[in-house]
Amino acid sequence: MKEVLCPKCGIRMEFMAESESSGNKKEVRYFYRCPACGTRIVESTMEITKKDNNIVINILQ
Ligand SMILES: [Zn+2]
Repeated sequence: MKEVLCPKCGIRMEFMAESESSGNKKEVRYFYRCPACGTRIVESTMEITKKDNNIVINILQ
């Protein structure tokens, strides 16, 4: 895993993930967050959709 430094504080940022679901859609975001100032840098966003019996994963970023 690469090391990402906060652009404001210059300290190492934490890698985190959060997900949000609405209906049959789920959005998962992976991001770096600074533990000191809370600055976030989004690394990747995925959209997971359930369609009939299939799961479709769409990488948005
Ligand atoms: Zn910071």
